[in-house]
Amino acid sequence: MKLQLLYRGPLSSCNYGCQYCPFAKHKESRAELLKDRRALERFVRWIGERPASDQFSVLFTPWGEALIRPWYQEAIITLTNLPQVQKVAIQTNLSCGLGWVEQCSKPHLALWATFHPEWVQRKAFVAKCLELDQRGVRFSVGVVGFPRFRAEIDALRQALPSHVYLWINAVKPELPTMSEEELAFFATIDPLFRYNTHHYDSYGLPCGAGFTVVSVAGDGTVRRCHFIPEAIGNLYDPEFKQCLRARPCSSQHCHCHIGYVHLASLKLNEIFGPGILERIPYHLSPYDQLLG
Ligand code: SF4
Ligand code: SF4
Repeated sequence: MKLQLLYRGPLSSCNYGCQYCPFAKHKESRAELLKDRRALERFVRWIGERPASDQFSVLFTPWGEALIRPWYQEAIITLTNLPQVQKVAIQTNLSCGLGWVEQCSKPHLALWATFHPEWVQRKAFVAKCLELDQRGVRFSVGVVGFPRFRAEIDALRQALPSHVYLWINAVKPELPTMSEEELAFFATIDPLFRYNTHHYDSYGLPCGAGFTVVSVAGDGTVRRCHFIPEAIGNLYDPEFKQCLRARPCSSQHCHCHIGYVHLASLKLNEIFGPGILERIPYHLSPYDQLLG
């Protein structure tokens, strides 16, 4: 089995409080945190128990900040060192310490780091990025594309090494009110920005979700993606593999990067190649060459 897993456990808290964040406003109890930890441990154990011929790529897409929780750092260390794992990536605000990455198999690790200018000084965020680079960890960096962040985005681009991809997430409700000049600015920073400005008509189109990539919840519920609520199976069911098959999209639209990159018609696999989960265009960091 060769499969990409987008794991999202019950965690739903964050040490930042971005006003534009639709989740992570919850303060968890100890019992809730323990539930998240146990669910993650079960997920890691399940992967470790697969045959070595299976190959998994994992992207953690938490509803909050996971890397400030030691059990996520431990899970990533374990997973990157498993023979069944090609790669582990995680979405993070990069506020955690970075010493733990030294215990990872670095060619199997990647970070998807987002800069939130209202919650962290640029200088501190850039220092973390440079530390990652110096430690030999692959990562992409992104910012939510509000025009009010322009000066910060410009300065961030200048501060980051040229081989670090800086993506911009389009704020779709605000796009109609943005000037051509503002849109051109974002496209200059992120050559792939225009891909993120659409609600793609995806209904009936071939998509890898449910076949080559699935969404996994803390209790093992498997959905084809994070955007279609219908469950297609459970990871911990011994017959789990039976639920994997090619399916046309059943949603009218797909607008999020972690979804539409799997739409066959967009051919984004040609741009991202094996860096598709961590959002790193292939030409900037040829991931498979790292693995030898
Ligand atoms: S850092 Fe991310 S998860 Fe945390 S509040 Fe901001 S957008 Fe939400
Ligand atoms: S196109 Fe988007 S919404 Fe449809 S199945 Fe693929 S990832 Fe899910």
